[in-house]
Amino acid sequence: MPISPDARAALSMVVGAAWVRDDEQARLAYGTDALQRGAPADLVLIPADVDEIAAIARLCHEHRVPLVVRGAGTGYTGGAVPVQGGVVVSMERFTRILEIDDANLLAVVQPNVLTADLQTAVEARGLFYPPDPASSNISALGGNVAECAGGPRAVKYGTTRRYVLALQAVLPTGEIIRTGSKAVKNVVGYDLTQLLVGSEGTLAVLTEITLRLVPRPVATATLQASFATIEAAVGGVTALLAARVVPATIELVDGGSLAAVERYLGRPVAPPGTGAMLVIEMDGQPAGVEEETHLVSGALASAGALSVHRAATSAERDALWEARRELSFALRAAAPRKINHDVSVPRGRLPQLFALIAALEREHDLWIPSFGHAGDGNVHVNIMVDPSDGDVLARAERAARALFEGVVALEGSISGEHGIGMSKAPYLSLELAPDVIALMQRVKAAFDPRHILNPGKIWMG
Ligand SMILES: Cc1cc2nc3c(=O)[nH]c(=O)nc-3n(C[C@H](O)[C@H](O)[C@H](O)COP(=O)(O)OP(=O)(O)OC[C@H]3O[C@@H](n4cnc5c(N)ncnc54)[C@H](O)[C@@H]3O)c2cc1C
Repeated sequence: MPISPDARAALSMVVGAAWVRDDEQARLAYGTDALQRGAPADLVLIPADVDEIAAIARLCHEHRVPLVVRGAGTGYTGGAVPVQGGVVVSMERFTRILEIDDANLLAVVQPNVLTADLQTAVEARGLFYPPDPASSNISALGGNVAECAGGPRAVKYGTTRRYVLALQAVLPTGEIIRTGSKAVKNVVGYDLTQLLVGSEGTLAVLTEITLRLVPRPVATATLQASFATIEAAVGGVTALLAARVVPATIELVDGGSLAAVERYLGRPVAPPGTGAMLVIEMDGQPAGVEEETHLVSGALASAGALSVHRAATSAERDALWEARRELSFALRAAAPRKINHDVSVPRGRLPQLFALIAALEREHDLWIPSFGHAGDGNVHVNIMVDPSDGDVLARAERAARALFEGVVALEGSISGEHGIGMSKAPYLSLELAPDVIALMQRVKAAFDPRHILNPGKIWMG
């Protein structure tokens, strides 16, 4: 339903004319994310502070206008896309690091600080913010919290959830609340902080985030292990887990993804004959890093690695990580559309997951290059399609459903880090029982009785 002229005028007045966009170009630009399936906003508002957001929420609640929060717009499931029109609130003016507290190992930030900017700022002081989505240069901390972003380092350090101590947030009814505290231990009442982490912009607008930091590791070692086949590389991951080592990262890249990134970067990334590779990083104190590197190299060699190469310089390490970070863009350049499904399984079931992906490629006649955070059992399964080809889209849809059914049968999850958003909403009931979905919907109603905040996400309707 279009926004009434009265509501439009009142909403625009909150931020002032200079911070309102309603031209066609802006409505489209603020209506899409990395999923590449957009829907235009009716009105884009760019507030300056928490009070303006509270006023916008009150008006949207009063006039029953959908309100969608937008961070940096790098989400992969359409979370920031206004599928039912209404207002997009862009957080682009919330870009300040408010405090870095060395003594208490924490930082207080506004939500649209880029993840990499916080990392650079704290590392200069000998501190470390571990969550490291491969999008860290382009995604914002508010979006990371709203999605509970993961990334390569989650093997050792956990996901964003582990680092969120406290939040300031605006409810869809307009109240400003604070949850949690600066204390690392806090068990007072229900843990609303953790409820808001991963809530995909459906429960509240996050306006300030208090994050836990850790000391920066002083030493790192980066290994590249080449294998002849994907099955052998997965065997390498199993061997690492069996050796009882927990590296900071265990990233896996299959042959199709590797070829795509080599084409995209115009340089070789792995030795000739590599059918799949692992990128493994150890970090910590120098002696511990050396010992772990020794154990890891041995385990990989016994698992049949063709070669295990340790990056000798920081330039070599950077080149390896550049290749890992560019994988998504390389695959995007390799086909008209890449549909990225970030499924996860218990780590020991990776061999079954890769067998399933190979079967889906054969049965549905699709190219499905896969890579990801193998140390967490979290794999980005990319179904490559031409959206103008209805037949290939139908096959991709059938393959996606079979993939999700398969990971649930393996006791895994249909999303390890990208969330449900709009693209996975049709599949929610494959993983969650009806009574659990109903309970979640009652939680949603308690926060948002008129269902105005990010409608059409997580569940349909
Ligand atoms: C190349 C590439 C690599 C990626 N790699 C990873 C990876 O390794 N790991 C990973 O987890 N993800 C990855 N992603 C996905 C994406 O970057 C993350 O989901 C990220 O956390 C989204 O942040 P954003 O600021 O772009 O959020 P947006 O896309 O703007 O929004 C995402 C969701 O968060 C909500 N939201 C945003 N800000 C707020 C706020 N202040 N308050 C309330 N809700 C809010 C939105 O409403 C939406 O539902 C990758 C994406 C790309 C393009």
